[in-house]
Amino acid sequence: MSDAHIRHTLDAAWDGVAPGREQCVELLRYPAVSPEAALTRAVADSVSRRRFAGQAMLLGQIGIATDECPGGCGFCVFGQGHALFDVTALDRAELLQRSKAFADSGQLYALFLMTMHDFDREALLDDVAAVRAAIPAQTRLVANIGDCEREYWRDLREAGLSGAYHVLRLREGTDTSLDPAARKSTIAALRDEGLDWYYCCEPIGPEHTPEELVEQMFFGLDHECFQHAAMRRVCQPNLPLAVHGQISELRLAQVVAVVTLAMQASPSLRSIAVHEPNVLGLCSGANTVYAETGANPRDTAADTAGHRGLDVNGAAAMVAEVGWTELMQGA
Ligand code: SF4
Repeated sequence: MSDAHIRHTLDAAWDGVAPGREQCVELLRYPAVSPEAALTRAVADSVSRRRFAGQAMLLGQIGIATDECPGGCGFCVFGQGHALFDVTALDRAELLQRSKAFADSGQLYALFLMTMHDFDREALLDDVAAVRAAIPAQTRLVANIGDCEREYWRDLREAGLSGAYHVLRLREGTDTSLDPAARKSTIAALRDEGLDWYYCCEPIGPEHTPEELVEQMFFGLDHECFQHAAMRRVCQPNLPLAVHGQISELRLAQVVAVVTLAMQASPSLRSIAVHEPNVLGLCSGANTVYAETGANPRDTAADTAGHRGLDVNGAAAMVAEVGWTELMQGA
């Protein structure tokens, strides 16, 4: 992209005109340390602060059960064939205690319950109903679970669920054992059921080309996600994809910025997240971070809180430090 061309792309983005696929590919071709990437991040930061009126969104996630997961994802500590994690499960009392500890501060927009790809469907319905009854009304309840059909999403919605995190991952079906068609049909089903759909460009590694990143991130745009995001793959030694290494937070922030600019074309979008929480992403278009407790696919600790995971107060302090001084409420 020439100087004039990138200036035109970013001027247009500043005026609210989202870059298309080819322009996004060009923006991602610049090295993360280049002045062009810095300018892209600066424009995205301003666009996002204007779009979200300076309001951040804090989310919390609880990993409620772990097992050797048939998803087999080559980047995940739970993946079958390379799992670095034992079977664990939170009992109901512990789940409620952790849910209340997260949500009672009133700072969370939504609380996420995460399972493996396979999980006990009846138990999750009971968990959703119990957690819904235990946490403040202003905190939404969201699931991060395996593939499901519409009828089950309806049952979850009736039990108190508001949304779901579900992603057609980078190299899905190649770096994972999951069927891309099943991922897509699950996303269609949860959207048809009226649930908020949380999406993400993930899990990004150094081997992903700008074209792959753009193709995967535009799935979220084309299907009108409620939240978009970017997440880098964390390089845990002994996992199959560790051989590729890990991108820098600076490169991750560049992807966050491109997601932010592209998503100007989506009026339904409510937030942009960066995983894991970091200030560079929050100054490059992201207004959202997740606090986490329990199991975490990027961590080998049984409880990620105090390890890789940030607690709610830590997440609130991080967004405030970079000028996101108000928090969105879920209701
Ligand atoms: S990322 Fe999810 S689906 Fe893939 S192995 Fe890990 S827990 Fe299973």
